[in-house]
Amino acid sequence: MCGIVGYIGSRQAAPVILDGLSRLEYRGYDSAGMAVFDGQRIQMRKAVGRLKVLENLTHGGEAMKGNMGIGHTRWATHGAPSDANSHPHMNAAETIAVVHNGIIENYIPLKKKMVSRGYTFVSETDTEVLAHLLDYYYKGNPLEAITKVLHRVEGSYALGILFADHPDEIYAVRKDSPLIVGTSSDGCFIASDVPAILKYTRTVYYVENQEVVRLGKDGMRFFSVDEEEISKEPVTIDWDANAAEKAGYEHFMLKEMYEQPKTITDTISPRIQDDTVVIDELQMTDGELSAVKRLHIVACGSAYHAGVTGKYVLEGLARIPVEVDLASEFRYRDPLMGEGSLVIVISQSGETADTLAALRESQARGYKVLGIVNVVGSSIAREADACMYTWAGPEIAVATTKAYSAQLAALYLLAIKFGLARGTIDSDRAAGLIRDLRRLPDQIELLLGQKEKIQRFANRYVGARDIFFIGRGIDYAISLEGSLKLKEISYVHSEAYAAGELKHGTISLIEDGTLVVAVSTQPKLYQKTISNIVEVKARGAFVMAVTNEENKPMEKVSDYCVYLPETNPYFANSLAIIPLQLFGYYVAVGKGCDVDKPRNLAKSVTVE
Ligand code: GLU
Repeated sequence: MCGIVGYIGSRQAAPVILDGLSRLEYRGYDSAGMAVFDGQRIQMRKAVGRLKVLENLTHGGEAMKGNMGIGHTRWATHGAPSDANSHPHMNAAETIAVVHNGIIENYIPLKKKMVSRGYTFVSETDTEVLAHLLDYYYKGNPLEAITKVLHRVEGSYALGILFADHPDEIYAVRKDSPLIVGTSSDGCFIASDVPAILKYTRTVYYVENQEVVRLGKDGMRFFSVDEEEISKEPVTIDWDANAAEKAGYEHFMLKEMYEQPKTITDTISPRIQDDTVVIDELQMTDGELSAVKRLHIVACGSAYHAGVTGKYVLEGLARIPVEVDLASEFRYRDPLMGEGSLVIVISQSGETADTLAALRESQARGYKVLGIVNVVGSSIAREADACMYTWAGPEIAVATTKAYSAQLAALYLLAIKFGLARGTIDSDRAAGLIRDLRRLPDQIELLLGQKEKIQRFANRYVGARDIFFIGRGIDYAISLEGSLKLKEISYVHSEAYAAGELKHGTISLIEDGTLVVAVSTQPKLYQKTISNIVEVKARGAFVMAVTNEENKPMEKVSDYCVYLPETNPYFANSLAIIPLQLFGYYVAVGKGCDVDKPRNLAKSVTVE
């Protein structure tokens, strides 16, 4: 959510910043701006709207000369999207410029105080208070001014800062919002995320909470909030820039859907050895695994839906009670946990603010937290007691597909591991499950091959007003994700219901021709779901079924059937989600929606 890019070096800063910001567009934003020091003073341009507007305003950066600058794409939290509220923000003398991602929680009392000291505010943002505070504390030493400000602000922030009378340095600092810095032979970079600077360097440093970085043309130095110098080790990024490009696909989302077979292979193969599951990152012996009495899975959005599936699979295979919580609820509900509770947090970005808070809440209560995370080196990855990476690579489309699939795969592995350790499955059963896991990538490939068929069907629903998704058990978890995928990118209203629950309320919304997508992958529940289909058909629904080939009676009751290859019912989600992702994608494409950057949504939600 929101993007920051900064540069100092021998190149022209503005084009580097614009290029970097364009690679962060996936994070979601509503306005963009930049500040560049031109040798005399700080030049600033900012405008509401897409990055294109800023590009036009600055002739692709040509109109802003200078070798150091900071840029920002804003996702408004305080004050509507407007030119004035866009970042950067400056002090009145225009000698200090700051860009900010996050929220300054105590900005109201701070603003009051600064107004009483004679400062005038020109925006409604919380961020502007930082520009005036920096001005107030600045006595010629930027590091001193920055650390004084940090001692006064509460909340979350990633900041890029310029001082006009220090033309050889720019500053970066963060707390609870993502930020990295990078070095190369022709300059240093600040960025919210690696893809922004991958074109220029692979040598990056992950900035820790409340660390201040001073970047110069030839290198950078790190300081603590007490102004003490600290040393840090660089990390070399080994994925290439192509991984963050579209590679001929019309959208990142389609490309990422096609990467799912590889994603699953990459997530499972390093953890399968000699027909058994080995998860070294867990750092738990079989004895410790069987001593776990309860699992708490905590996540947001699609990761939460992966967690709901995880509950069915872990409870089924390992016979261990699992509670699944939305992170925003968990952190404030004073959850009942006890001896033997283990917390699993799931997040693609590893920066999801609510999930990170849930992790900290659990640790503060003395519970061990396992993170299932995609972005290497992210906050959750670093703070969790153990971290299982989903090796999905960079995910750019806002609507997740491959990271979700990788999260499911990680949960399956955990279920087998727990099952073996607890003796609820034996090694033969585990070997069978592993065989089925290994077949998933090819089976997904097969389903992706049906994209034209799904596209033709989806085109009929481009004008739909409401679409319902129903299923029981794991099929309910699949329905939740299928429905979310559709509505987040196509803006068609949709709801997911446990199939047996529909008649307790929403069935009244079914009208002649309303599309109901019925997911039925669990043999035990085929007949039950058929009864629910009959109920909606009696109210005029048109039913698309996603089911297994063997479920022949389904053909008779539904209007359109998508068949899935045969797998273990516990893994059915990984297959059934593919046609549902394609369906949501093609409805959105048919409507001409901005598939990769849906309105109002951000890729990594770093605010509460
Ligand atoms: N809270 C700041 C604002 O509303 C920053 C938002 C962001 O992270 O983009 O301007």
